[in-house]
Amino acid sequence: MTDGPSHDDLQDFLTDLDAELRAEADWGTPAGYIPELADVAPDQFAISVALAGGRVISAGAHDTRFSIQSVSKVFTLACVLGRIGDQLWRRVGREPSGTSFDSIVLLEREQGRPRNPFINAGAIVTTDALLDGRMPNLALSEIIGFLRAASEDADIHIYAAVAASEERTGYRNVALANYLASHKNLFNPPELTLGTYYHQCAIAMTTDQLARAGRVFAGLPDAPRMISTERARRINALMMTCGHYDGSGEFAFGVGLPGKSGVGGGILMVAPGRASIAVWSPGLNRYGNSQVGTRAAERLARFTGWSVFGG
Ligand code: GLU
Repeated sequence: MTDGPSHDDLQDFLTDLDAELRAEADWGTPAGYIPELADVAPDQFAISVALAGGRVISAGAHDTRFSIQSVSKVFTLACVLGRIGDQLWRRVGREPSGTSFDSIVLLEREQGRPRNPFINAGAIVTTDALLDGRMPNLALSEIIGFLRAASEDADIHIYAAVAASEERTGYRNVALANYLASHKNLFNPPELTLGTYYHQCAIAMTTDQLARAGRVFAGLPDAPRMISTERARRINALMMTCGHYDGSGEFAFGVGLPGKSGVGGGILMVAPGRASIAVWSPGLNRYGNSQVGTRAAERLARFTGWSVFGG
């Protein structure tokens, strides 16, 4: 494996990549089931790479805020593991699901214990564990506080309109939460856990902010020390195996980096010891992952030689 390109070469590469992708004819389709996201123009792209030494190298619309959606699940997981540690695994598994993000199929077969913390059912249980009988504001400020401290940037907020939009139309998540409750794997009232979950998904960030926040998983020497090396390694393993739903195998094959996608079109990726990377493009592929973002990630991994499977 190489240590990667110089800062100048990386900047040139990202600038060229942005220009090339802008000529892209097929941007994919923004998430249609959340009205507020369905209206976002698909032909947008941003990429940021946070490196050791505090430098962030970016291209495209890296100052534009987008809804991080399921990328938030990684940070909620870090908060919950910090609070209750391995107890969480009694309620959620650590296996890839091979099913779509909002599938209920396995939940019935496996008695209400979701396969992993990144599919919606598992993330709803994880948020429920963070809530732990408290007011939703306390759980949400813990997640936002984590993101602000990790990115060393206080200007991170929730888009209430996106949360409200999902609250109106989140029929599948309501089904999942009720199903979990019927198996006694939801300890708070379903509407309270779901409200918290929708608000965590509605956090808005730029790719610069997200790349900086992800440094805590990349183990960069000058990143804020918020989680242990062992915990970061385990969260990275989950991102690699489960971070892209039923597209996780394809992402590992094409990119080879632990990553977590969201239906807002963002992807956070970790190159352990080297960089934390965020890409955003709101049009999605058939797995519900950013279409152009995935393509950019493949190109970046090839250029840098940062795949964890070899350069
Ligand atoms: N808020 C979204 C949902 O629950 C998150 C899904 C995603 O980003 O993959 O449907």
